[in-house]
Amino acid sequence: MTTAYDCLQHDQHDPLASLREQFALPADVIYLDGNSLGAQPKAAAKRAMQVIEQEWGTDLIRSWNSAGWFDLPSRLGDLLAPLIGANPAEVVITDSTSINLFKALAAALQLQAQQHPQKKVIVSERSNFPTDLYIIEGITQWLQRGYELRLVDSVSELSIAVDQDVAAVVLTQVNYRSGELLDMAATTALAHAHDALIIWDLSHSAGAVPVDLNGARADYAIGCCYKYLNGGPGAPAFIWVAPRHLADFQHPLSGWWGHTSPFAMQSGFIPTPSIRRALCGTQPIISLALIEIGLATFKSTDMTAVRKKSLHLTDLFIELVEQNCSTHGLELITPRAHAKRGSHVSFLHPHAYSIIQALIRRGIIGDYREPSVMRFGFTPLYTSYMDVWNAADALRDILDNNSYEINTPRYTVT
Ligand SMILES: *Cc1c(COP(=O)(O)O)cnc(C)c1O
Repeated sequence: MTTAYDCLQHDQHDPLASLREQFALPADVIYLDGNSLGAQPKAAAKRAMQVIEQEWGTDLIRSWNSAGWFDLPSRLGDLLAPLIGANPAEVVITDSTSINLFKALAAALQLQAQQHPQKKVIVSERSNFPTDLYIIEGITQWLQRGYELRLVDSVSELSIAVDQDVAAVVLTQVNYRSGELLDMAATTALAHAHDALIIWDLSHSAGAVPVDLNGARADYAIGCCYKYLNGGPGAPAFIWVAPRHLADFQHPLSGWWGHTSPFAMQSGFIPTPSIRRALCGTQPIISLALIEIGLATFKSTDMTAVRKKSLHLTDLFIELVEQNCSTHGLELITPRAHAKRGSHVSFLHPHAYSIIQALIRRGIIGDYREPSVMRFGFTPLYTSYMDVWNAADALRDILDNNSYEINTPRYTVT
């Protein structure tokens, strides 16, 4: 049985403990939602002021060159690359995850239409994050070429669902609801065995679990910078293309930033040979600049250390909740096996929404996801073992005393 004293001891021996200092977390908050919106690095405000006052205010349009604005999407991509098993010049940061999925899937289907024109199926998971499925639906309806979406109810069905008709597989490595982690190398190999291309959504993996895109021989990847990467609300997302597909990477959002010589103002789109062909138009510089600050929070650690603490935190939370709340009908939907778990933990409860609201009123911020899911994100850079203890204890107290209102009115969360 783990005690509060044990948790204090874990904090004292935690090699990552000092990293919390980098974040502007309110003293009365236990933040277990960094998987949805990463906490603010303290350095972000100063950097934003610098961009606004110096780079924009004083240097004006010269900053496209003098402050490196033009290169920012690729420079940030190079900084991100080691966190996702990519090399420099393989990834850019631009647009949103939804838009980057559109580009990657359009490019994958275009490539398949040349090589295997009979392939018309796109496979994904029914429980994938809705925007991913909506984008797939949007592309298939708009192309009008007979593409169909084939959804599996569990990843165990993939070995049957991925057959010779499949052009592309679109999967999220860590499920946003259950926290289930997929085996990227094995699933990629399965897709390739049927000549299908695979697009990985790393929204809940980048900065949360070690990722090896090149090692897994993945084809394309996309993902968020505002979750575990701490880039700020609505921060632009990333897109990675395997070097072997880059020359064939063509997507319909062929804006001038993807042109081989954007300032030649020529007629006729010629994609630049580099990964910058994934760019479309002018970038949101203030938001992009803050991603550098978010990525810098990983500077003094590595994903092996982050993963080790993440598993310890999630193991501990599962143990404490099961130890404290065993009579309250909570159902763990996150896999117990380390190899299948991301960095958040989810429990089902009929009053999940009201319980989460009661926790938030006490300053313990997790979140609710349909249907009946309480979701708790553990971000090793700033979550302490005492946070885990206090959150599990508050949950016990709320459940023991029924101190949640059954009919809390719902508001919309994004
Ligand atoms: C958070 C998340 C997104 C968000 O996409 P946006 O375009 O940034 O709104 C997309 N896919 C997955 C799997 C996510 O978890």
